[in-house]
Amino acid sequence: MPQAQRRPEDDAPTPSQAPPGGTRIADRRSREARLERRLARDLGRCIRDFGLVEAGDRVMVCVSGGKDSYTLLELLARARRRAPVPFELVAVHLDQGHPGYDGEPLRAWLDAEGHAHHVLREDTYSIVTERVPEGKTTCSLCSRLRRGVLYRVADELGCTKIALGHHRDDALETLLLNLFFAGSLGAMPPKLVSNDGRHVVIRPLLYAAESDIAAYAALRSFPLLPCDLCGSQPDLWRQQMKELLTDLEERIPELRSSMLAALGHVRPRHLLDAELAAARPPARGDLEGFAAAVASRPSASRRRLPLAESDGK
Ligand code: SF4
Repeated sequence: MPQAQRRPEDDAPTPSQAPPGGTRIADRRSREARLERRLARDLGRCIRDFGLVEAGDRVMVCVSGGKDSYTLLELLARARRRAPVPFELVAVHLDQGHPGYDGEPLRAWLDAEGHAHHVLREDTYSIVTERVPEGKTTCSLCSRLRRGVLYRVADELGCTKIALGHHRDDALETLLLNLFFAGSLGAMPPKLVSNDGRHVVIRPLLYAAESDIAAYAALRSFPLLPCDLCGSQPDLWRQQMKELLTDLEERIPELRSSMLAALGHVRPRHLLDAELAAARPPARGDLEGFAAAVASRPSASRRRLPLAESDGK
């Protein structure tokens, strides 16, 4: 499985982009162009590796107004202009009825950039505040309601794929949450078919680093919508996973890249999943040790704690 590797030359400006005279504007443009190239390459590789977009697709891009979804939309639009196969994009933004919400900056930006889009209003906020006791985390129900609306809208708009803006760091934090709290080994799928088989969710930014996305969004001055209108508690454990990764990366510089590479280099025979072992018998030399490991696995005691999936993209 290809890795999301970064090469030193990616950070070097090409001669045509070198800032003439080192002016600040030229330097800014140069950094923006470099970042866009790198992010576009990450996105393109993810799309190719997992067949995320096919000829004739109509992709609904979920735009929350955060840095990730703006970046996703821009990169997909760029990819579409260069793609050898035709596909369509339609941006969809959902106004969930949060007090103080103002989607006008996003709407104006979508118009100005010429992105086909739909802005919908569906008051999920009232449902969430009615059903979730005060002080409890609202993200789980909020995300499920949002997903339901987006699936319905995808049908109405005739979209064949639903694109979300999750990135590499989201995937790694989910990996750690599952590892530490759910007793399972899994991150985020780049392509997921809904249980009823009617919807395909894609995450083309899964190879992209959050730091690149944040820097790109800042350079592009995307009009970000505040995401604290609901007054919900932030996902504290997810935040702690982020901080843990940041702390570790100070001592292990390529930590996140290595972890992402690990997600693409799974060695099933070195794991202890009996179902996996039954589905794919280990190689001859490994049989004895593998069988012993599987037999001694405390499968009954595996903890299965529900994790709130916070996909606020
Ligand atoms: S933070 Fe996002 S997902 Fe959580 S309740 Fe607020 S709007 Fe919903």
